Amino acid sequence: MGYPRAGKHYPRSYGEFLSWFRTDEDCLDYLEWLRWPSGFACPTCGYSGGWRLSDGRFMCPDCGGRSSVTAGTIFDRTRTPLTVWFSACWLFASGKDGISALSLKRTLEIGSYQTAWAMLHRLRSVLVRPGRHRLTGTVEVDETYIGGKEAGLSGGRARGKKVLTGIAVEVSDPRGFGRCRMRPLADASATSLHPFVTDFVEPGATVTTDGWKGYSGLENLGYIHRPRSQRADRASGGDSGDLLPAVHRVASLAKRWLLGTHQGSVDGSHLASYLDEFAFRFNRRRSRSRGMLFYRVLELAVTHEPVRYKDLVANRRARAVPPIPSRGTGHPPSLDRQPADRPWRNSG
Ligand SMILES: [Zn+2]
Repeated sequence: MGYPRAGKHYPRSYGEFLSWFRTDEDCLDYLEWLRWPSGFACPTCGYSGGWRLSDGRFMCPDCGGRSSVTAGTIFDRTRTPLTVWFSACWLFASGKDGISALSLKRTLEIGSYQTAWAMLHRLRSVLVRPGRHRLTGTVEVDETYIGGKEAGLSGGRARGKKVLTGIAVEVSDPRGFGRCRMRPLADASATSLHPFVTDFVEPGATVTTDGWKGYSGLENLGYIHRPRSQRADRASGGDSGDLLPAVHRVASLAKRWLLGTHQGSVDGSHLASYLDEFAFRFNRRRSRSRGMLFYRVLELAVTHEPVRYKDLVANRRARAVPPIPSRGTGHPPSLDRQPADRPWRNSG
């Protein structure tokens, strides 16, 4: 199929969302379609085809393995009803700025803040798209301190820890921004900055920096490096204004978003995943439909390995290097599945 369409592949409004997903069975059916667009494929042996058992799981006729739509995804062994998960995902994706854990808890009347917090972190963790493209063309790169006060802290500690963060933004002529990437950095040395650039910027791109020594040597890594300085800018007839307007704009939007949507209650150990969420939203800011983001998040969620609660809280320190994302095995969804591929589906 081609591009997913509103009203056909994803709800175009909240009203439509409500009418599509009334029960957990409705949600399972949608996840099944997203995960196995051409019918059940055994996660164990890869065999295509199988039977639906009376408990809703599938059995592989080849290896005899049993599986469910949610097994091996971020919904694996969840105790939260799928209807609540879908509502959370809708709020997360359809709101321009997303939603905080506190608002989610109140809106959906979720039992504990911890549960709401963990749900949002699981949704956030799928946003790092495996194999996503690196930035191209002209890219501004800079680093800045981001972070803020942590909830519940007072006095001197309320300032919290700020984390040095690398920012890369595509710039288009004469003005306008493309995509951005952000990641916490261990420090501002070449050892930290060079991998940041090589991970996120395609070789051959023109990289504009402020000329900090941590960036020198980029030209040896396949980039056209354009260090800019006030003095050099004046000498070449520039107006010596903001030399890196794109990264500064993105940094200020990210800080405002953390303070606004999340009231700054983001601790350093989780900053990386908030930055992933910010970049996901920023890079889709021109998306016409918010329902489309709902669809994208769920599509990523059913191809993402389970995220355990202990993994969400275990990593107390900001990672200098994020975990390597798993290889996605997702397929584009299709409504044109052959009924023959789905012998287990009954009309009920
Ligand atoms: Zn099998």
